[in-house]
Amino acid sequence: MKQIGILGSTGSIGTQTLQVAEHLGIRVVSLTAHRNIHLLEEQIRKFSPKVVSVTKEADAKALREAISDLDTEVYFGDEGLIAAATADGVETLVTAVMGSVGLFPTLAAIEKGIDIALANKETLVCAGDIVMSAAEKHGVKILPVDSEHSAIFQSLAAGNRADLQKILLTCSGGAFRGKTRDELLNVRAADALKHPNWSMGQKITIDSATLMNKGLELIEAMHLFSVTPEQIQVLIHPQSIIHSMVEFRDGSVIAQLGTTDMRIPIQYALTYPNRVEGLSASLDFFTKNTLTFSEPDLEAFPCLALATHAAKVGGTLPTVMNAANEVAVAAFLEDRISFMEIAGSIQSAMDAHKVTKAPTLEEIAAVDRETRVRVSERISRS
Ligand code: NDP
Ligand code: MG
Repeated sequence: MKQIGILGSTGSIGTQTLQVAEHLGIRVVSLTAHRNIHLLEEQIRKFSPKVVSVTKEADAKALREAISDLDTEVYFGDEGLIAAATADGVETLVTAVMGSVGLFPTLAAIEKGIDIALANKETLVCAGDIVMSAAEKHGVKILPVDSEHSAIFQSLAAGNRADLQKILLTCSGGAFRGKTRDELLNVRAADALKHPNWSMGQKITIDSATLMNKGLELIEAMHLFSVTPEQIQVLIHPQSIIHSMVEFRDGSVIAQLGTTDMRIPIQYALTYPNRVEGLSASLDFFTKNTLTFSEPDLEAFPCLALATHAAKVGGTLPTVMNAANEVAVAAFLEDRISFMEIAGSIQSAMDAHKVTKAPTLEEIAAVDRETRVRVSERISRS
């Protein structure tokens, strides 16, 4: 029986991973949550992990009391995330926390030789070169959970890697697809949270509405598949039936299609290279009978242009972009800035940054921290 750990088990990907684990009979060795200790307790009682962690010490104390009848060890904070990521017996770590907080525990797992089922794209955006070279050094597989990257990974199996010409990264367009810049000036978080096709955590749903999610995914794809930003084309595909495609040298385009159910890519990351019966309904082509494609509108959705620029420049610029985005999205969710100010905050952080090429992990961590402080201060002043 395979054994996994899950960082972020109480979130959208985390809870779906537990459904897949139950379906496949996978043993769950470790779990983590940020604040939702009630759901975490339910998960502990159901899956009997050896190790769990939460962010705050007080929550760890409360949880320890609540599960004093069980053997599960409870940790907290950054060390707790690392303890859960590297718990004895974890063979594959599903990284489903939100944000660059996933970086250090993911690296710790890689250094221990644990394969990664990666949902936490911010980790690759923040420090992709370091994470990918650590994976290579330790012979660790990074298996994509993000639906587009799972689709690319599966499509690439149809040819030789050297014959890959380009990646066609599909994008639903998010909650505001088709809106102009002017129409976006007064939209609110509640509107942005209504994603047309996928039910996900709040941060990624806002990222989908700004198209920053596609920008983060472009950088994620660069690292996972060793391609340049120029080799990746973003296509708006509102139906989210094609999850992404690759084009080979001979002009053949290979795509992966499926329902909008994250349990499909989660399961494939856990059973790769095998396929077993899944939890999702079949795709019905008689009801889903239209596939359309268009170019993204970079004037209305400047975040995608900012991410493409960060991807091309590289170094510490993607780290700055990601940190600024995390702070700005949190402020938008709290109604402290407008929708278009998300891009404004990111742009101003990127403009003010002096890029370091080939940064060390310490430099990345410092830039991530400093950017958060700077963007928070700018937002407080506005
Ligand atoms: P959610 O917000 O639903 O869940 C996030 C998880 O991370 C929760 O368990 C949360 O705990 C925990 N968490 C949040 N903040 C912190 C923190 N500061 N420290 C430690 N743990 C934290 O997010 P999603 O599941 O939607 O997304 C998770 C990751 O997967 C993101 O990187 C996202 O981009 C990526 N992804 C998500 C997809 C989706 O369909 N949802 C699709 C593709 C990628 P708590 O519940 O206690 O707050
Ligand atoms: Mg995706």
